[in-house]
Amino acid sequence: MSVDNISQLDELVPSRYAVEVGDIEVLVISDGVLPITSSTLATNVASAELGGWLDDMFLPRDVVDWPLNVVVVRTGGRTILVDAGLGVEFPDFPRAGQTVHRLEAAGIDPGSVTDVVLTHLHMDHIGGLLTDGLKARLRPDLRVHLATAEAEFWEKPDFSQTVMPGPIPDVLRRTATQFLDEYRGQLRPFESEYEVAPGVLISRTGGHTPGHSIVRLESRGDQLTFAGDAVFAVGFDNPEWQNGFEHDPAEATRVRVELLRELAATGGALVATHLPFPSVCHVATAGDVFRCVPATWDY
Ligand SMILES: [Zn+2]
Repeated sequence: MSVDNISQLDELVPSRYAVEVGDIEVLVISDGVLPITSSTLATNVASAELGGWLDDMFLPRDVVDWPLNVVVVRTGGRTILVDAGLGVEFPDFPRAGQTVHRLEAAGIDPGSVTDVVLTHLHMDHIGGLLTDGLKARLRPDLRVHLATAEAEFWEKPDFSQTVMPGPIPDVLRRTATQFLDEYRGQLRPFESEYEVAPGVLISRTGGHTPGHSIVRLESRGDQLTFAGDAVFAVGFDNPEWQNGFEHDPAEATRVRVELLRELAATGGALVATHLPFPSVCHVATAGDVFRCVPATWDY
């Protein structure tokens, strides 16, 4: 095949990956990658220490591409979208915001989505829902599941412990407010846990944001956890490193370590928003820290 022909293929880099968790169908979809300032990956260590880790990982020291994954869960007649990517409102990030058209490319019409689960209201997790014209294509009875604490937090958000580049806090405030305004009628808030469908449990962790939640899937002995922003790539080698986007970094660290320890003990699979696509891995312990062991692709 000539290079010309290759470039005419639908996609050179795959952006969706299907995995089964017992009887539950899971599709990991890449929203793309989002360049972020590397220093936000570790705000409580010397820059040389973070620089050494970035060198070890063959990542640049100034700006890194942050992968962005969303998940579609299908079971019992429900189609559940977990997070929605960055959206297309931010022209500076042309390589992210692909969720809506990649859903369609996967044969999933937005009108077939019965439930949306949001891990939290940062723009890289809700932006896709703010895409122009999308809301009119969604079911009028769409249920959007979100922790009560998350909706309350964004009425008066506290950024005092975050370390983010200049314009970002304002953008996060604006997009979360816009989302709550547009989707308030669809919201199905939950306090600490909610079972969206049999074997699909949303569980509030707090930490990253007060209402940050994870999604636990379990069917016929198989387990997979979508960890949202509880775990980042740096968090395996350095679980104590604080991320600049964490609104309560100490609590976020506690949540991360507890979740990684649990997954190392149970052997359940992990998918997280910002792990390299398709992100499906298992967690092993390595002394006091952890290893992300990628799962073999299942054809
Ligand atoms: Zn995020």
